Amino acid sequence: TIGMLCLDEKGDIAGACTTSGLAYKMNGRVGDSPIIGAGLYLDNEIGGAVATGMGEAIMKSVSSFLIVELMRQGKSPQEACEIAVQRIIKQNPNYKDFQAAFIALNKNGEIGSYCIHEGFSYAKYQDNKNTNNPSQSYL
Ligand code: ASP
Repeated sequence: TIGMLCLDEKGDIAGACTTSGLAYKMNGRVGDSPIIGAGLYLDNEIGGAVATGMGEAIMKSVSSFLIVELMRQGKSPQEACEIAVQRIIKQNPNYKDFQAAFIALNKNGEIGSYCIHEGFSYAKYQDNKNTNNPSQSYL
């Protein structure tokens, strides 16, 4: 998956999510990425979130929508991503067998990221500078 979240100089949020799906997927499978609320969700009043990993688990908890709604309730992007991962862990006893990872951005430009397994990182471009940022993880 490639997920992107952008905040422009006017404070408007945009985002995108694209994927080829999972390896060896069943013919006709639709993952989370094209489903608004699951793989991607934005609200220009609040912020945005994007997901990668096991689409079935992400769809089941409508994770990107959940993250944006948690930010609406006052959680930081980091806290919101962590709660979304905790929700997936609670719903899926086999969570050790797959990855689920999120990034989130709010209107203040604060960023959060969290995943089940370590190894996920995200790129940040700001002030003409690119940085690579390892995500915190549950495992
Ligand atoms: N989330 C995608 C899917 O389940 C897989 C990926 O992360 O690329 O289709």
